[in-house]
Amino acid sequence: MPSATFHFLDRLNDFLPRDLRGQAIPVAFRGRQSVKHLAESLGAPHPEIGRVEINGADGDLSAITRDGDRVTLHPAPDTCPFDPPRFLLDCHLGRLASHLRMLGFDCLYRNDYTDDELAAILEADERILLTRDRRLLMRKSVRYGYCLRSVNSRQQLLEVVRRFDLAGRVTPFQRCPRCNHPLEAVEKSAVMDRLEPLTRKYFDEFHLCPACGQIYWKGSHYEQMTRLLEEIAGNLKPFEHGFYGMHGETRNFCNFPWNSV
Ligand SMILES: [Zn+2]
Repeated sequence: MPSATFHFLDRLNDFLPRDLRGQAIPVAFRGRQSVKHLAESLGAPHPEIGRVEINGADGDLSAITRDGDRVTLHPAPDTCPFDPPRFLLDCHLGRLASHLRMLGFDCLYRNDYTDDELAAILEADERILLTRDRRLLMRKSVRYGYCLRSVNSRQQLLEVVRRFDLAGRVTPFQRCPRCNHPLEAVEKSAVMDRLEPLTRKYFDEFHLCPACGQIYWKGSHYEQMTRLLEEIAGNLKPFEHGFYGMHGETRNFCNFPWNSV
């Protein structure tokens, strides 16, 4: 039976069993098998794979594997494939969706999407799929995607910011965390009748989501988000991922109201 060796580099090893990480893995196969198919059969979804080397030369995931091939797979580069970044989030990632929206990123999310619905959205709309389900990432309709390693939403946010080089593109608190629609500044007088007495007394700047009607102002949630943004900026500092741009943003949004009703 023909066989080839597959060598996964860097974070692609996250998808392999521990005893296969960091080494050339022999793979026996029958018939015509693409590099993509064999890489996925070992556990690595195609959107996670970047450069492909076959016998030392640049290759392609669609290449047909031949007997004796030495295949080296690099992880996808830490860049965003298009601008502005647009995401589609799998079920159970509601907190991550909310965090990303607070940083200004367009995120489609519902807690009841089926895998088929997610695939159909990606067919019609160019978005990056974020999920913890590597099988979903292996679907043909998924061109861009990332498998979240952590189950913690703050760590997930850091992963996404690093993976897609988002730090320099953060525009905090411009988008409704509840429904994804861009927010608009609104006069206090226009929302006065919906405010609690203390909010009415102590706050003067308000933003409104024209889609879901939510009102936002500076408050305790704002303090929480400030800490989250500072945490991200601090964590990204050694990586030089546009940290300074991001830090500027954390200073600039200090006038933004951030409680909601
Ligand atoms: Zn909204």
